[in-house]
Amino acid sequence: MNISETPEQIRQFLAPLRSKNIAFVATMGCLHAGHINLIRKAKSLADVVVVSIYVNPMQFGENEDFSKYPNTFEKDTEICKNEGVDVIFHPSNLYPSDGAKVTLKVRDISNLLCGISRPSHFDGVVTVVNMLFNIIRPDIAIFGEKDWQQLAIIRRMVSDLHMPIEIIGSDIIRESDGLAMSSRNRYLSPSERQKSLCLSQTMLLVKNNIEQGEKALRSIQFGIDNLRKYDIHPEYLEIRDELTLKPENNITSQSRMFIAAKIGNTRLIDNASLKSATENTL
Ligand code: AMP
Repeated sequence: MNISETPEQIRQFLAPLRSKNIAFVATMGCLHAGHINLIRKAKSLADVVVVSIYVNPMQFGENEDFSKYPNTFEKDTEICKNEGVDVIFHPSNLYPSDGAKVTLKVRDISNLLCGISRPSHFDGVVTVVNMLFNIIRPDIAIFGEKDWQQLAIIRRMVSDLHMPIEIIGSDIIRESDGLAMSSRNRYLSPSERQKSLCLSQTMLLVKNNIEQGEKALRSIQFGIDNLRKYDIHPEYLEIRDELTLKPENNITSQSRMFIAAKIGNTRLIDNASLKSATENTL
């Protein structure tokens, strides 16, 4: 397995492989089973698998965890080797030394859900993903549905900017008790880890409510009240169209529930399809 640290190195590595199908998985490292699932999907779909490990400063707000983001590069390398990754792209910095003068901006679909508390986050995400796409020039790129808004925005970037890359979403991988896997889960103390279960459990309660015929808005209120019982005040618990991200009061096969909440100092997000609710009521 090759480890490239500069755009030049990875371009050179990929040059003789351009006739093959190249799949790309972008990560910030601290790899877990969610990332491994993306890598396995990439392997099943392409001849060459590229994994990037880069903590992108532009997508972090001022009071966020950029400086303390976990770094487990040696373990990540082992995981990638075992999974048959062809090359890790591990740059130390992708931005010009005099600061970025040209960046991408997301409109509308960045001003909701996570974009409310993280106003420039998605501009940072699309800017770095665009850089990575330009350097790696993959045929396909796999992103996790755990970060659904990010996936939806990247799909729009590729479509709006006519990028010749197929974007593939991959299922949310959870711990056995339901908590969506995340590199940030390691910040949780044992009691916070216990409390964090309320997120997936509340989504399940809301979903069951809807499946039993309760109205979306009342079910959401029920979910918010349930979280309050555990002293959790979610940043949002909402139902939206999974493609347009517009709010939805009536459940359709494209309805998806989204949640974000801070447990202690750790901000967690999760989401779930409500498609089964429409199937049950038909
Ligand atoms: P990150 O390293 O957190 O930036 O995530 C890199 C990629 O892994 C993104 O496409 C995430 O959506 C995806 N990912 C992270 N956690 C999970 C998970 N639990 N299930 C599925 N995909 C995930």
